[in-house]
Amino acid sequence: MNFEFTKEQELVIQTAREFAETELKPIAAECDLKGTFPMDQYMQMSDMGLIGLPFSTQYGGAGGDYLSYILAVEEISKVDASVGISYSVQTSLCMGAINTYGTEAQKQKYLSALCSQRKIGSFGLTEPNAGTDASGVQTVAVKDGDHYVLNGQKCFITNSPIADIFVIFATIDRNLGTKGITAFIVEKEYEGVSIGKIEDKMGIRASQVGEIILKDCRVPAENMMGKEGRGFGIAMATLDGGRIGVAAQALGIAEGAIDETVKYMKERKQFGKPIYKFQYLAFRMADLKARVEQARYLVYKAAMDKQLGKPYAESAAIAKMVASDCAMYVTTHCVQMLGGYGFIKDYPVERMMRDSKITQIYEGTNEVQRMIISGAMFR
Ligand SMILES: Cc1cc2nc3c(=O)[nH]c(=O)nc-3n(C[C@H](O)[C@H](O)[C@H](O)COP(=O)(O)OP(=O)(O)OC[C@H]3O[C@@H](n4cnc5c(N)ncnc54)[C@H](O)[C@@H]3O)c2cc1C
Repeated sequence: MNFEFTKEQELVIQTAREFAETELKPIAAECDLKGTFPMDQYMQMSDMGLIGLPFSTQYGGAGGDYLSYILAVEEISKVDASVGISYSVQTSLCMGAINTYGTEAQKQKYLSALCSQRKIGSFGLTEPNAGTDASGVQTVAVKDGDHYVLNGQKCFITNSPIADIFVIFATIDRNLGTKGITAFIVEKEYEGVSIGKIEDKMGIRASQVGEIILKDCRVPAENMMGKEGRGFGIAMATLDGGRIGVAAQALGIAEGAIDETVKYMKERKQFGKPIYKFQYLAFRMADLKARVEQARYLVYKAAMDKQLGKPYAESAAIAKMVASDCAMYVTTHCVQMLGGYGFIKDYPVERMMRDSKITQIYEGTNEVQRMIISGAMFR
């Protein structure tokens, strides 16, 4: 096994870290408080090639490897997990689906726009009555000449209020269950597309999450991805990749919280000495560090499985489950280390603890990850 990063990967880490420290850190708390998305900074990420990092230069991507992209999500999320998930959803879910399942024409048009023309992407699977059980999609797509007419409502869709391009899952026949679900690329500009309620969230408050309402929305038939009835498989396989992004987001949050806490413990004095001098506290920090290192190797392993073309559904589920539980555990303990100062908004660990929670829920709750892992064990 090779535990060394390549020169290119080192460069990605350094670039993403510098960007996060200089551009995101100064505004992260304010964006969290106001629930506003740092659009200018996100566009800089597009201009820098971070958004199109793992995609071919043929489509305006940077031609980087998959681990490099995961390392970038981790670095961004150390500082701002809201930007981390916007980046991950756009890249892993929206662009990932188009890259894998899109036609050449779809890739030329949409993947290129998302890679290099400052367009934002999102991925609409969840509906009010189709959450964990995504087979219950009720949005319908009715063929009408050379178009499909879409009607329905998506909820909890990351980036939807700011997105230009949506990957949408709709059924051609509600009686067909998973066999009716079909994937479409939908543009914001299409008539009949609107954004409904925008969610006010516990954490990742700067990321924009909302409803997509489709009312007699005519989508050209050429925008269907794969074939009719293949959408469920596309959604599930794409989410396997997305989970590695969420795992990297969670890993980044945990690392960011440890960095902030170590800094604080060196400065904060009680009983005449810095609090890290109390062995009980220092040992607890050692335990947190060890948990993060365990999560790190699982996240990188899942990324390498994907990069090397190996099966990765199970390793992605393990990485997502362990890294998200790690983030929740680590940030809760980091808040405790700061005492009352951990509970107020002057220090970022308060935000990081709130941001951690969603990593245990989206792109398949951790109960779902256990279904995937145990399903593979007892096949
Ligand atoms: C901030 C945010 C961003 C999101 N972004 C997106 C996005 O970009 N695109 C998108 O399509 N969706 C998105 N989602 C939706 C997210 O993926 C779902 O919320 C998640 O999959 C869970 O679905 P649900 O909320 O309907 O919960 P439910 O499915 O109602 O689950 C409720 C509880 O029951 C448990 N449960 C359900 N079924 C089982 C079972 N069979 N066995 C054991 N336990 C079970 C769940 O684990 C959970 O604890 C987002 C959600 C949020 C909150």
